[in-house]
Amino acid sequence: MRQAKMSDASEAGRDEAVSGCRVMKFGGTSVQDAAAILRLCHLVQRALPYRPVLVVSALAKVTDQLMNAGWAASGGSLDAARESLQRLRQRHEAVAGGLVVGDEYDNLCKQFAQEFETLDRVLRAIAGEKAFMPHAQDQLLGAGESLSSKLVHAALGKAGVTTTLVDAKECIVTDVAHTRATPLWDETNERLQAVLLPLLNSGQTPVMGGFVGATRDGIPTTLGRGGSDFTASIVGAGLHASRIEIWTDVDGVMTSDPALCPDARRVARMSFDEAAELAYFGAKVLHPATLVPAMRSNVPVWVLNSRNPECPGTEIVAHCETDGRVKAVTVKRGVAIVDIEPVRWFAPELLREVFDVFERHQHSLDLLSASRGSLALLVSSVTALPSIAEELRGLAHVRWENHKALVCLVGEQIRRRPELASQAFHAIGDIDVRMICQGASERNISFLVDESRAVEAVQRLHRSFFSAPVSEPAIEGSSSQAMCQAEGAWQ
Ligand code: ADP
Ligand code: ASP
Ligand code: MG
Repeated sequence: MRQAKMSDASEAGRDEAVSGCRVMKFGGTSVQDAAAILRLCHLVQRALPYRPVLVVSALAKVTDQLMNAGWAASGGSLDAARESLQRLRQRHEAVAGGLVVGDEYDNLCKQFAQEFETLDRVLRAIAGEKAFMPHAQDQLLGAGESLSSKLVHAALGKAGVTTTLVDAKECIVTDVAHTRATPLWDETNERLQAVLLPLLNSGQTPVMGGFVGATRDGIPTTLGRGGSDFTASIVGAGLHASRIEIWTDVDGVMTSDPALCPDARRVARMSFDEAAELAYFGAKVLHPATLVPAMRSNVPVWVLNSRNPECPGTEIVAHCETDGRVKAVTVKRGVAIVDIEPVRWFAPELLREVFDVFERHQHSLDLLSASRGSLALLVSSVTALPSIAEELRGLAHVRWENHKALVCLVGEQIRRRPELASQAFHAIGDIDVRMICQGASERNISFLVDESRAVEAVQRLHRSFFSAPVSEPAIEGSSSQAMCQAEGAWQ
């Protein structure tokens, strides 16, 4: 082991080993059971010369289960909610049993007992209020990361790694926007440096939960679902890490979601902008905000497979050579199109008024297209639309259609190649395309289709753009298994 560590360090260069640190984020499937956590320990041991800081997600599916328990409690099923908490406790204890024994196991179970007592109180409060309010969601959901970080900390200690458990609520200072909080950057960076640098400098490997933060007053918040990627990037940027590694269950960023396109290939290299676009337009592999801090501090991001660590993954950097090819096909579901037709004539005030109304309702817009006669907007949630329509009454008629999906081609400078749009039309020409957006960004061409046709559209576009033999160095075959499937499918 000692030899392996030294050769790893010399291979990647001494600078990273002596000056920076490396953020390693492990997602839910990468910590889902004892076997996954032992694989994580091995990866961390190999990375010790680079001074790793660990950010971990909750065990796979735990956040969903906590969410369901909260809704059950608010809906009058407190007993069922408490039973599901008991099952979660048993699962965490069973994982602990596969990692540590004796006093260490007892100690972990004691910490879990305290944690679950607190959760039980939160559930009772939710049941009492008969509502699952955003602040309660944050109290409940954040527990998943707290529990998993304790397991990982114990497992690393057992593996001989000198490690310290860090409470993310002490480092990630956020605003009060419960369930979708944003960091207060200066305070967060100060805290990250004050808490983590001394640990790193004394040879410790810090472990913290992703996804969670706290307000200045210490009230728990969360960064939005999938937010542990964002935490990793916040930490990496705040510490000026040499790289941020996102360890997940696929070989890297792929040419499409492999769950939809089993022949998807690994993208070897992409730019921050491309990756941000891809994440924003539905690729779950990265939380949409992940690239923001990394970009700002110019820290490269790597997406890697914890089950296939020898695969080189995807490197995401500031600039990446491009020949204007499509890098990936994504889909964002659950989109609604909102048509806004002015009562009299289209005036510039209407645009301002529309933006103001959406802003007042804290309702974000995904896309906008304007013509002389009307406006079309895409939104991801329709809950506030009735009130928005009411506020715009007298100025404009507001109508919306639900159950749409935005299928996107992503790639640096693809806008400059009009033949790509015609190739896309050829591929999905018989699918009703409600709206096309080309030109808002250099690196995106999007098609709005009915949600029921979205998977088919993605698969057809993927086949059209990626079934040809691989020649581009930036995109490589994924795993041997995926390549075999590709040959089987497209020969
Ligand atoms: P984690 O739990 O590690 O955060 P996620 O489930 O959030 O993992 O993200 C990984 C998943 O993202 C993959 O299993 C894959 O199904 C999905 N995914 C969607 N689009 C892409 C893409 N373009 N490349 C890779 N994975 C993608
Ligand atoms: N556990 C959280 C979620 O499932 C955050 C994450 O895994 O990134 O959303
Ligand atoms: Mg994720």
